Amino acid sequence: MIQKTLVLIKPDGIQRGLIGEIIKRFEQKGLKIVGMKMLKSEKKLAEEHYSEEIAKKHGEPVRKALLDFIISAPIIAMCIEGSSAISSVRKIVGNTYPGDADIGTIRGDYAHASKAYAKSNAKALPNLVHASENEQDAKREIALWFASNEINSYKLSHEDFIF
Ligand code: ADP
Ligand code: MG
Repeated sequence: MIQKTLVLIKPDGIQRGLIGEIIKRFEQKGLKIVGMKMLKSEKKLAEEHYSEEIAKKHGEPVRKALLDFIISAPIIAMCIEGSSAISSVRKIVGNTYPGDADIGTIRGDYAHASKAYAKSNAKALPNLVHASENEQDAKREIALWFASNEINSYKLSHEDFIF
């Protein structure tokens, strides 16, 4: 099934000079970037993105730390399309906690902070990328970060083989 998903390159990805490395991972898989921009998020947008669900999952302090982190500096928002793009992108990104992320994934190759480290630290765990978790989140998140005329439609030369 052809899906669209939202990816954010978080402030650590940009400040560590990993923009190209991160984008390359999605391109080399044959996924299609249909929307992309750099921006410094307004607080309100970040709050809608990291909604109450995150507080339920990880607690309010983690949500607050994440919000502070995500609005602290520029980020890149991308809308990525492809066959089963939501799970495919999550596989390329790797486990939430870089210490548990497989080598070969973005988080596993470029970071190593553990879950224990995250728990002992009042800051948001810097794990380079955000990627939508499911279809419902992907729809909601793409609509948050992109206007409909910022999502493009074009054909990749390899699409007949890869999609
Ligand atoms: P993912 O980004 O893999 O979908 P979650 O949606 O569960 O993971 O969490 C959102 C983000 O919150 C994570 O990417 C990470 O940056 C941060 N985070 C998760 N757990 C913790 C924690 N215990 N301490 C600090 N930050 C955390
Ligand atoms: Mg998530």
